[in-house]
Amino acid sequence: MTAAPDGLPPLAALETARLDWRSDASGEAAPHSPAFDDVYFSRHDGRAETEHVFVAGNRLAERFREWREPRPFVVGETGFGTGLNMLCAWACFDAHAPAGARLHLVSTEKFPLGREDLARALAAWPDLAERGEALVAQWPEPVGGVHRLWLDERVTLDLHLGDAAERLALLEGRVDAWFLDGFAPAKNPEMWRPELFKAMAARSRPGATFATFSCAGVVKRGLAAAGFTWHKAPGFGRKREMLCGEIATPPMDERRRQTPWFTPPTALPPRHVAVIGAGIAGASTAAALARRGIAVTLIDRFARADLGSTHLQGALYVKLAADTNRQSRTYLAGFLHSRRWLAWLDPRQELWRASGVLQLARSEKEQARQARFLANHPLPESVVRGLDAEAASAAAGIRIDAPALDYPDAAWVRPMELCVRLAATPGVTFRRGEVVALRQQESGWMLEMATGEPLTADQVVLAGAVETATFAQTASLPLQPVRGQLSQLTLPAGAPRLGRVVCAGGYVPPAADGVLNFGATFGPGDTDTSEREADHRANLEELERGLPHFVAALRDAGADLAPENLTALVGVRAASPDKTPYCGPVPDADAWREEYAVLAKDATRIPETPGGHHAGLWVSAAHGSRGMASAPLCAELLASRICDEPLPLEQPLVDHLHPGRRLIRDLIRGN
Ligand code: SAM
Repeated sequence: MTAAPDGLPPLAALETARLDWRSDASGEAAPHSPAFDDVYFSRHDGRAETEHVFVAGNRLAERFREWREPRPFVVGETGFGTGLNMLCAWACFDAHAPAGARLHLVSTEKFPLGREDLARALAAWPDLAERGEALVAQWPEPVGGVHRLWLDERVTLDLHLGDAAERLALLEGRVDAWFLDGFAPAKNPEMWRPELFKAMAARSRPGATFATFSCAGVVKRGLAAAGFTWHKAPGFGRKREMLCGEIATPPMDERRRQTPWFTPPTALPPRHVAVIGAGIAGASTAAALARRGIAVTLIDRFARADLGSTHLQGALYVKLAADTNRQSRTYLAGFLHSRRWLAWLDPRQELWRASGVLQLARSEKEQARQARFLANHPLPESVVRGLDAEAASAAAGIRIDAPALDYPDAAWVRPMELCVRLAATPGVTFRRGEVVALRQQESGWMLEMATGEPLTADQVVLAGAVETATFAQTASLPLQPVRGQLSQLTLPAGAPRLGRVVCAGGYVPPAADGVLNFGATFGPGDTDTSEREADHRANLEELERGLPHFVAALRDAGADLAPENLTALVGVRAASPDKTPYCGPVPDADAWREEYAVLAKDATRIPETPGGHHAGLWVSAAHGSRGMASAPLCAELLASRICDEPLPLEQPLVDHLHPGRRLIRDLIRGN
């Protein structure tokens, strides 16, 4: 597969693995791949083989026992298959690691199993049943990219779906111990290629180890050429030998050599972080940090209790560009991430509902755009599909005159209640107040509060709306305010109910608690938060245009859709000029201007110096009206970055979110 110019492989729905279940030596059915003519594991001794080759081959029990680092121990794997290896590593971690230690699993897989096959395969190991269930419950859609799963309080799994070499080259993170699995080199030469070993080397911690069942020449040569030393060790069962080894001094990451400005600042994980802004960006970041054992002070000028009772329903959906680009790839990743995250956080769906979302195509132009979108986005129908007007009507439960894109698994969310729930994560302390200035100290930060009371923290995350750019350190971060008014109507009993969130111009979720939300207006540059009748009228017109039959049915049921019957929720969102959120460290703009001035004369003379950052100052902002799709992923990105863990997004997309992207572009252009 050739990489797109931006370094990402084309967006792909992956083929799921086709298995046959063959009786093995023990007479029991074990998963076998007809495509590779090889087994995933043997029912008889597959478990013991995993323990011998991968777990013992990397000395995991001993290393887990001694693990005292604040960051997690990272295991990387090629060929996730049924997950047996990773579940065994997890069990070993639980048996040996001290309290407070964390484990991060990173695995690649090009032909993911279907969920049912996965469950069936794992049923072979009753003592791994609970771990298997956590995996099956969060098993992602077969879409190329990174999918983060929260296996338990201490253990996280990132599944990088796609070709191992390609995916590892996009990994932002470093590994302590490698499991080199995948079908045997003779049966799967495509995987065991030099690029794979090179990518592994560049994503290794100094001293990282590897283990593999294979002693094939290509493996030994490939590993040695990439910088690993290897030695033979006794193999498992009838196999005489296997390979183990390590890499003392991993090479530098090539992409970072080309973009030194995005090199992340390094520091020990903080003990206490202040997060400014308790909306979805701030609250999800606070919860992600607290889950990692960090004390968080979550600050907002509004009281937490005020947030929870507004009947507000937000939509978790994305409006992606017809052609794939970095922005749409980022939003797609964010959407899939949020969906899995919500199901993990609130499996009973108290704070959200997997209602599905329809995006209507009311004009010919929009229909052509959606057709182009579907052609360019080969995604499984469970993620998105095209529906004609009749099928869209059936899904919505009301007549719709336009075809639509249907995201059957998308959702609506109660964002306020969600923020309150996240703020209640153990380890998060809510504090009402306004931060007016930030001062960097010898160690950490002093936050100047409007009341004059001081507050100190090791690090700070800025997750407010437009006020994020009001600090001296963030003055170079352009943020535009966008006013939005949502209208709410209390419905009479017996009013019709939508079966999907419907988006046309604005959005309308199925009514909850007898209140219909619809809107919202879009007022760039406007910061006024008072209710406007004109905005209600605009929302009503939009509702009538998009869903005339629904509006007629509401009227038939006795609803009076007059502006004076509506109540309003008004917010001011923040957007960046390129409409991608900011997520990452805050660049020291003066230092960049000095360091990278040379690029204006010659963009190929790339300095070696990493970009200077305001140490320990981070931002997650400019989520616009798509915060449900982008903020939770950005929260995991920031928390992972702060805690020196692998990131849940491909490196080019991490860079795409970097708050310094515009600054460096302007420097290169000589602006
Ligand atoms: N580690 C697995 C387990 O614990 O069940 C068993 C691995 S199975 C023997 C090999 C796996 O490698 C299969 O799931 C296969 O789809 C995957 N694979 C094969 N070629 C690949 C490639 N180029 N990139 C990523 N995964 C690949």
